[in-house]
Amino acid sequence: MSGTLESVVALQVALTELRNAESQLADVPDWMRELHEEHSERKAEIDALEEETDAATLDQRGAESEAEDARAKLKHYQEQISAVRTQREYAALLQEIDTTKEQIRDAESKAMEALERQEEASNQLEEARQGFTDLDQRYAEAMKKWEAEKPSVEQEANKLRGTIETIRDQLPRQVLTMFDRIHERHDGDALAVVREVERPKGPAIWCCSACNYRVRPQSVVALRRMSEHHTRGPELILCDSCRRILHLEEVTV
Ligand SMILES: [Zn+2]
Repeated sequence: MSGTLESVVALQVALTELRNAESQLADVPDWMRELHEEHSERKAEIDALEEETDAATLDQRGAESEAEDARAKLKHYQEQISAVRTQREYAALLQEIDTTKEQIRDAESKAMEALERQEEASNQLEEARQGFTDLDQRYAEAMKKWEAEKPSVEQEANKLRGTIETIRDQLPRQVLTMFDRIHERHDGDALAVVREVERPKGPAIWCCSACNYRVRPQSVVALRRMSEHHTRGPELILCDSCRRILHLEEVTV
């Protein structure tokens, strides 16, 4: 049976691995992160260009129909000219006709401007789509590969959950409470390895690898004893400064 400190280290390792697996499952694995970001970026560009093209098309249609309405209005005014009786009525009608002609010109130039925008955006869109084909295909292939890998990552995550549960069941309650508190406070990493620092003069000293604070020699002695005897007691040694749980062996996850 392993000692308390060894179990705590194993718990931390399993929790870190589970966190990695879960973050991959919620998103994409590390090996396709870069591709995913590039793909999302380019996809967003295309979406924005599509929106711009659509908006310009709508603007153009709106302006066209404004112009059409104004032309109908103009025709109506022009037909009224023969029915005008007084000079005042005539002047008023001419005024309306001028205003309407101006409206037509405005609407036509708005339509032209929208058409130009629409053309520019749709050219850019076409270009962006062409450049995207290859990337999109590579992305689809990567996604397929990831979908095939996913079940094994899920399986691994489940296995880790089981491991975590087993370790938690075996650990003394007070150790678990302490571990959870430190684990939460230090953003998912409750442990710090003790690092030996050689000095040109005098004996080596020991430091906490997380915060560099000196570790007392008697703590190092106690840690060595704990790991040699696989001590099952509730005692753990914390860094005097950052209060992480100290251990001696470097673990790589
Ligand atoms: Zn520390």
